[in-house]
Amino acid sequence: MRVSEAKAENTTGSKKGHTGLSQKEASRKHEKYGPNTIVQKKKVSPIKILLDQFSDFMVIILLACTVISTFMGEITESVTIIAIIAVNAVLGFVQEYKTERTMEALKSLAAPAARVIRDGILCSIPAEQLVPGDLTVLEAGDRVPADAILIEANNLQVDESLLTGESHPVEKSLQEYGKEGGSTDKKLNKVFMGTIVINGRARAVVHSTGMLTEMGRIADMIQGIEDEQTPLQKRLDHLGRYIVYGCLIICFIVSVAGILRGEALFTMLLAGISLAVAAVPEGLPAIVTIALALGVQRMLKRNALIRKLPAVETLGCASVICSDKTGTLTENKMTVRKIYAGESILNVTGDGHSFEGGFAIGNKEVRLQKLYPAKLALEIGGICNNAKISPASDQDKGALGKIKSVLTKHQRWEGSGDPTETAIAIAAGKAGLSPEVLDRLYTRIDELPFDSERKCMTVVCTRGVREVFAFTKGAPDVIIEKCNKIHTANGIIELNRVIKKSIMKINDNMAGEALRVLGVAYRQLDSKSCEKRQLEQDLIFVGLIGMIDPPRREAVEAVRKCRMAGIKPVMITGDHKVTATAIAKEIDIYSEGDRVITGDELDRMDDEMLARVADDTAVYARVSPKHKLMIVRVLKKLGHIVAMTGDGVNDAPAVKEADIGVAMGVTGTDVTKEASSIILMDDNFATIVAAIEEGRVIYNNIRKFIRYMLACNIGEVLTMFLGMLMGLPLPLLPIQILWVNLVTDGLPAIALGLDPPERDIMMRPPRGSKENIFAHGLLSLILFRGILIGLSTLAVFTSVMHFKADVDTARTAAFLTLVITQLIHVFECKSEKKTIFEIPVFNNIPLVISVVISLAMILGVIYIPALQGIFNTVPLEAGEWLMVAGFSLLAPIASGFFSINGK
Ligand code: ATP
Repeated sequence: MRVSEAKAENTTGSKKGHTGLSQKEASRKHEKYGPNTIVQKKKVSPIKILLDQFSDFMVIILLACTVISTFMGEITESVTIIAIIAVNAVLGFVQEYKTERTMEALKSLAAPAARVIRDGILCSIPAEQLVPGDLTVLEAGDRVPADAILIEANNLQVDESLLTGESHPVEKSLQEYGKEGGSTDKKLNKVFMGTIVINGRARAVVHSTGMLTEMGRIADMIQGIEDEQTPLQKRLDHLGRYIVYGCLIICFIVSVAGILRGEALFTMLLAGISLAVAAVPEGLPAIVTIALALGVQRMLKRNALIRKLPAVETLGCASVICSDKTGTLTENKMTVRKIYAGESILNVTGDGHSFEGGFAIGNKEVRLQKLYPAKLALEIGGICNNAKISPASDQDKGALGKIKSVLTKHQRWEGSGDPTETAIAIAAGKAGLSPEVLDRLYTRIDELPFDSERKCMTVVCTRGVREVFAFTKGAPDVIIEKCNKIHTANGIIELNRVIKKSIMKINDNMAGEALRVLGVAYRQLDSKSCEKRQLEQDLIFVGLIGMIDPPRREAVEAVRKCRMAGIKPVMITGDHKVTATAIAKEIDIYSEGDRVITGDELDRMDDEMLARVADDTAVYARVSPKHKLMIVRVLKKLGHIVAMTGDGVNDAPAVKEADIGVAMGVTGTDVTKEASSIILMDDNFATIVAAIEEGRVIYNNIRKFIRYMLACNIGEVLTMFLGMLMGLPLPLLPIQILWVNLVTDGLPAIALGLDPPERDIMMRPPRGSKENIFAHGLLSLILFRGILIGLSTLAVFTSVMHFKADVDTARTAAFLTLVITQLIHVFECKSEKKTIFEIPVFNNIPLVISVVISLAMILGVIYIPALQGIFNTVPLEAGEWLMVAGFSLLAPIASGFFSINGK
């Protein structure tokens, strides 16, 4: 598409005024202009993944040796070895390919969304579906989804540093040029893709999309989930190198010693290399990645989207969760319950979804016509309001509901926008002040949007031709400080300190009932062009509006789980101290003796002072986003691993600073989401706890298969090494070693990564962040069991040699023992605390299936005559089977008996 075309289309869009494009038109344009994306990052091609499977140095050498042995006449053996390598490669390919695709799917889930008006309805769509002409709505914290021309702007400030390098936010307006004018680069009425709305609200018509945007020119700046390696992966890479060197040295010694003892040169070379291929746990990093990817998928099912892979590991170490209150610990479904105005406290009846219900003083119903200040309070709340309430769709209702809806009082309403504002709009509706009524009375001409730093918002409206008013609502303590008069039942009087104190007392009482309280005030202006900073001063106080926001039921259980898991839950909220404490008490975050610290108190503290009390503090109230940063910093200094939630644009620094930054998927701004490592798709506190649980499970499962793989590999190397030291013939042939590797290392190890959580996973304290993967005796468990596997195999080999003096039978028995000991050990790895007799075997069906497949594979090469020749195996007799079974079971029985399996 050419730019001129897009511009032409854009004009059509703007003409559509406030209804935006129709869905039909948008799809037509989407087809024409393509997706609104910057060039896709190159995907890893399947061919590359497949070729990578053969790029391992040892595999190349093994292939080379096999080719040589083909020329030396060992055709069947060579073909089999190549087949084994190929099957291994295919397995590796399938695993990696699946992981790659899973990660890609996750990335697309995290893709940015855009708010657009289509067919007159405000909706959220994936930003890539935006087309020229779309009418988009922007708010503080949004990343601008495409280049667009403003048609409405309220105090819009945009951070364009991404494009211009200029760190100061640019004030945007409907004017084309700034005062200095001239420069086309500085068009003030345009917003650009990728820049961030710092303040204000706007509507803009999309002008260019995708590669035609300014951002499109700087194509490599695309954001996405980072493909970062986790600390564990890095450490394993490091460890892997030492294991490789160690194995290579041992394999070299085995080969040289064999040659010196007179074994055939080529057989020993092949044996050494096969052993190296089998012993080097080259699959380890891949399996760690698979375990992480599977875990990430499981977390997604529980509504936690991981943006940065290292967070999966850090989650298991979390020792403090700092959570917002509204919407995370509470439902964010607000209903106005109380109004204080004109010296009276009114109860509001009915629910938060319809205009049904009314007002009462005590139990006595009252009509608001007689209580003007209360009506005025709702009028201000209804006008100073950006929520859109619309009739709920009748779809889910029965016939009765549909009939009821005809009567407007029974009509159920749905709100889009801030739930606080929706609740007030519905309460205003109960007083006969529906949005239509208010729209007829007032015309909004300006707005100072709400922000959690100022804790209030103001709109400027005209009534009739001459009257201009500023209406303000916000945190009562903030509002009251901006007022010098009060609207009483008997008219407007001076607001003195005594009245202020009594209002704050009433506010405290309402807050004590866990109500979220807002104050409302107004002032009449002389003209439409009042200075913005003067709008919120010399106001007339009108009243308080109190609403309930019930705690989420699942939060109570999640907090209990946190406590059992040694994790401290902390509430951080912009809300009033008393409201916050009341809710915190209900969900058990706060108990007698805990501290509650307010934003004002934090302002008077330095980091050291906070550090002294932070461990005893359960609630931080009336805080601003800047305080969150201080809290994270101090908790981290105290040695905690901190998870911190955030939604607003100003929360991003704290979310970024936290060990685990958690953004809200529903209410969160793009900027906070980009700063986070996890996004909660349902904004729910319980989801953080679920993610922590999954994080612990993943780490545990990684420990399980590291234990398994390393113990098995030690067993294999030891068998060959000790056999050589003892002057025995080769206990296993190269092809047998490769088969053991294929049978035991692949499927069972992956299946261990799927192991369900152990029951007590959330009853253990958090893991230390610097804790070694081999901590808590894992290394000795691995060494001990590795040695036992090696010794059992050698014992079987030497015993059969002793009784039968037939090397093929001895090798077959050793071959079988090596596999069976490993397949028994895989079950032992399910727990570090329980013995094989206590471990639930059937709670991981994939593991059981993979063990059955592995058993069939080993029995197949021993008992299928066609394969016996290739693998140099012979069928075993009862006596040999007894020996195999005896030695294979010796270790687990001994461990169980003496409880040495980690107890
Ligand atoms: P949390 O930080 O837990 O999400 P919160 O929603 O109370 O809680 P903020 O959004 O920072 O935190 O709000 C701070 C205060 O500002 C609120 O307690 C309320 O008094 C006031 N407030 C909230 N929303 C609005 C709004 N839309 N208009 C005016 N004032 C508001």
